[in-house]
Amino acid sequence: MFSGKTEELIRRLKRAKIAKLKVEIFKPGVDTRYSEEDVVSHNATALHSIPVESANEILFYATDVDVIGIDEAQFLDDELPNVCEQLANQGVRVIIAGLDMDFMGNPFGPMPKLMAIAEDVTKVHAICVRCGSPAQFSHRTIAGDKLVVLGETESYEPLCRACYLKAREERQSLAAPLDNNQDGVNQNLDV
Ligand code: ZN
Repeated sequence: MFSGKTEELIRRLKRAKIAKLKVEIFKPGVDTRYSEEDVVSHNATALHSIPVESANEILFYATDVDVIGIDEAQFLDDELPNVCEQLANQGVRVIIAGLDMDFMGNPFGPMPKLMAIAEDVTKVHAICVRCGSPAQFSHRTIAGDKLVVLGETESYEPLCRACYLKAREERQSLAAPLDNNQDGVNQNLDV
């Protein structure tokens, strides 16, 4: 969140449109924060999009297209990698934006597999609100363990690895994935 990934998706799709390519944009039906039918970034650049309940629905709409964009892909189901591969094999360029990790720091939905099969992966980072470093974690600032919480400014803060681990320690509520790595706080995990 707040990393500019939707802006980057919109930028690439607008360039495809300038190139006179046929573009179709999808987003999960669950993401209804701003508008039912537009992909809207935090700085309010909008492109018309089709809300879908399942990944397979994309195949139904994505006929006679050159490029498809999918926003908030982490909320779509595990069929999404197959759907994207099928489209890519047909010559469609597939551009996906999504959160790679949930608020607990775990890989989010179909994103790991999508990143594995993609020709190209760009990680865009927000800025850590506590120290100003690049932030790759979304720390939830309210209680609860439900995965999908929308209405984000009150609920999430982007944090770097060190500040995220500190915040998590403060809350003393979650098990740390870096348990057996004593130096975890000062190390970066490069993917
Ligand atoms: Zn930080």
